[in-house]
Formats: sequence, structure tokens, C-alpha cells
Amino acid sequence: MKINQNLAALPAGYLFAEIAKRVKEYSAAHPDADILRLGIGDVTLPLVPAVVDAMKAAADEMGTLSGFHGYGPDFGYDWLIDAIIAGDYTSRGIEMGRDEVFVSDGAKSDVGNLQELFGPDAKIAVTDPVYPVYVDSNAMAGRLGAYENGQWTNLNYLPCTAENGFVPPLPEDGVDVVYLCYPNNPTGTVLTKEQLKVFVDWALAHNALIVYDAAYKAFISGPDIPRSIYEIPGAKQCAMECCSFSKTAGFTGTRCAYTVVPKELVFDGVSLNRVWGRRQATKFNGVSYVTQKAAAAVYTEAGQKQIMENIAYYRENAKVIREGLASAGMQVFGGEHAPYIWLKTPGTLSGWDFFDLLLDKAHVVGTPGEGFGPSGAGYFRLTAFNTLEKTREAVRRIVEVV
Ligand code: PLP
Repeated sequence: MKINQNLAALPAGYLFAEIAKRVKEYSAAHPDADILRLGIGDVTLPLVPAVVDAMKAAADEMGTLSGFHGYGPDFGYDWLIDAIIAGDYTSRGIEMGRDEVFVSDGAKSDVGNLQELFGPDAKIAVTDPVYPVYVDSNAMAGRLGAYENGQWTNLNYLPCTAENGFVPPLPEDGVDVVYLCYPNNPTGTVLTKEQLKVFVDWALAHNALIVYDAAYKAFISGPDIPRSIYEIPGAKQCAMECCSFSKTAGFTGTRCAYTVVPKELVFDGVSLNRVWGRRQATKFNGVSYVTQKAAAAVYTEAGQKQIMENIAYYRENAKVIREGLASAGMQVFGGEHAPYIWLKTPGTLSGWDFFDLLLDKAHVVGTPGEGFGPSGAGYFRLTAFNTLEKTREAVRRIVEVV
């Protein structure tokens, strides 16, 4: 058997394994250290009652002859798709057809799988630092060249740093696909409508595709930041959008998401909507009935109220981190419309140096920026998913150290 050498050549998934190793070693040497984890990229609050009730009712239905459901429709039940369209698009003045929304088991699977739509030599651009799935999934398909000195030779990195206010430059000539994630993981920053429009106009002018990952859109507050790329005129001709119930409604362990592929997306005379449907119908057998019922409950009045209470809790944590560290003189970014706070490490410390310093002196764990790409060097990510009490305590300890 000839192996997929692109897979074999992938660098090891080193970041979180290395973090776990350092924390484990430190704990073993300092068993009394009360370690606070602000590296968590997972929600921690329980599912809201509206969702749990819907799951229980659906489970009961599944146990009856008349309410049993086997394989569902390939792309999701109409009642969930209708709820998604009404709740996330019509309500914002965006028209969306039922056959443009594809329900799935996660935005990670969708953003990882959708590169199958691109030709083998399609040229890719990503913002840097970046959610690693966009990069690794294209590397697995052999599009990125060789991995040398921590970078792929055939990937267009769009640096996002304090110097450019975390607004990425436009891709270089010849790029076919650009991945944008807003609110951003890891930087927690957002783009305004005007800033996003620059990318939409670029993609339209260059016949390129934008893959827009809106997994954190529920954290956006106020009217100025777009929750969907389709708020920008022309985006239906150039963008796919991936959304998830994971961070919106605590579904990280429940698994439900959706990707929008507008009918207007046509490249080389081929409808992306048609080929994505063909791909999904072949390789994916849908999300469970119980889970889709749970997701639909997110859009009920009670569901909306309850999930927004959870989001408000995480937002408060983010505010505590942002304001606490800024008032101690640290350079702090993001965290206003996102559960992530991105900070510049003090002095010339690398992200890993700062990681070791915080672990040792504050017993706080975060994530070194280097793990998210070359432009993450000298930055550090903290997350808002711990409890308010532990978040406050972590900030207090960090402030004492820096
Ligand atoms: N997209 C981004 C930017 C993320 O940070 C994550 C999870 O952390 C995902 C997608 C994955 O979402 P899901 O749980 O729906 O697979």
C-alpha cells in the first residue's frame, strides 16, 4: 500500500500535548500548586434547560413506534434549517434558501472537509495566527508545499499583529481561497463591515472563494460588527460560511453545526452548492434526530434567553481578564466580541517563556501564541471559559507577576 505522504509528513500536533506535558511535570514537582487553567478552548457551563428538555422529549419519541426516526435527510431536517434561516439570516435581512444550509456534526469537520472542493493546486491564504484546522486539512491534501522552519512553503500567510491592528492584508496574487475567522480564534479580534467588505470586493474581483468561519458569532455585541459575511453585499457570490452550536449553545460535546453554501457560488462553471451536497451525501449520514431537536430548541424564545445568559457569563470573564491585565499595563487585544484574550508578552519574552513564567509564579495556564502560527510569536492566549471566581483569581495572580 502506498501511503498518503502528505499525511505522513505533517508536523506532530505539538501545541496542546506540549502544554499538557509541562503542566503535568510542574504539578508532579509541586503537588500543592493550585493551578488555574485559562487555556481551555471548551465551554464549561451546562446545556440550558430548553435544550435539555428538547433532547429528553426527542429521546422519548425515539422510543415509540410512531416517533422513531432512522436516517434523517442528508442535509438536516427542514424544521431545523427553517429555524436556522429565520433566527440567523431572515432576522438580519438576509435571504437564504433551505437548500443552501447544510447541517453537520461540527464546524471542525466542515472546515476540514470543504477543502475537497478545491483543485489539487488551488492556492490558499490564511490569517496568521490561525485556527490550525484550515492549514492542516490543506496540508493533508498536498496543497501547501514543504514544512520548513515552522512554515509551509506554498501557503500565503496574512500576518495579523498589533502593528496592523489585527486586520489582515489582502492575499497575494494568484490566491484562490482565503480563510477568515471572525470573531477570531486565537486573537479574539473582529472585523468591521467596512474591513470585511474589502475582502469580499477582493474575492469578487479575483474570482476567489472566502471560507468564513463564524463559530464565535454569538459573542458579538452591538450592531457594527457583522455576525454573518452575508451582511456584506456580494458575499453570496464569493463566500461559504461555517457556523456552530458549540460555542453558541454549549454543544461542544453534543455536536451540531451548519455550513451555508449559496447557490450563487459557481467556479469553473460548477455549482459549489451542488458538489458540496454530493460530497456530504456520499461521506456523511447526518446528525442524530435528538441532537437536531436540541439545536432547534436554541432558537425558541426560552432557548435564546438562556443561551445568552451563558454567553453573558463568559463575556464577563473576558472583561475581567481584559480590564484587569490592561490596568496592570499589559497590551491586551480581543475579548470584547469573543471568549479569547490575546496579549503581548512582557518585554522580549516568547510565548513559551511567558507560559513557563505564569505556570511557575502564578500557577496559571494559558496558550503560547507560537502554537497558532509564525505571527503568534511573542503573544499569549487566555480564554474566558473558566469560572468567574477562578478567572478573577488568575488575573490577580498574573498582575502580581508581570
Ligand atoms: N472553528 C473555530 C475557529 C474554532 O475555534 C472551533 C473550536 O474550537 C471550531 C471551528 C470547531 O467547532 P465545532 O465544535 O463545531 O467542531
